[in-house]
Amino acid sequence: MASLQRLLLGIALLGASIASAEDAPQRVVAIVPLGPVKQEYLERVAQEIQSRMNVQVRIEPQRELPSEAFYKPRKRWRAEKLLDALDASPPAGAWRVVGVTEAEISTTKGDIVDWGIAGLANIGGPSCVLSAFIYKKHSKEKDVLLRRLGDLAVHEFGHTLGFPHCEAKGCVMADAKGKAITSADESSGQYCAQCLETLSPEDRAFIKKQP
Ligand SMILES: [Zn+2]
Ligand SMILES: [Zn+2]
Repeated sequence: MASLQRLLLGIALLGASIASAEDAPQRVVAIVPLGPVKQEYLERVAQEIQSRMNVQVRIEPQRELPSEAFYKPRKRWRAEKLLDALDASPPAGAWRVVGVTEAEISTTKGDIVDWGIAGLANIGGPSCVLSAFIYKKHSKEKDVLLRRLGDLAVHEFGHTLGFPHCEAKGCVMADAKGKAITSADESSGQYCAQCLETLSPEDRAFIKKQP
């Protein structure tokens, strides 16, 4: 009788652990198109993030580029203001937000008031923003463009995880140093072991094993 009770208790505990795993809220990464963005760009970004993390990636409806982010002198969009707009109104339930645009974006870099960039994120912040503009301009083949855009997504997303720039060879968190194209081509596309070590155990649990 005692052993039957133990067995039943064991089954009950097993049931409870299955239920709690299912009930645990899944982390949602929301991809927000800012202005018109080709579906294949959005899908590539979604796929790159999905292949590295156990999260639910959701492509959201398109939003207008916020007018306050427009930088008239250069007719392009200020990336830090795009981040502010995403931070201010994230899609419901989003753990992280990835803004994607085909528009040209820029930010202030050192003494340069308006410097063209491919992407921007606040370290450890909830949002990052990616632009396909530079890659569209400089990639002859679509495959190359998509690979570069995918790498950029992993890089900027890494900043939201708290990763600063990293010197390790091939690490996707390498500083582009103003050369978005060549740096993307030297990247392995993966976070290096040193970067991953800095994650909290809770965050690390969401990282998929890398090939
Ligand atoms: Zn960076
Ligand atoms: Zn690294």
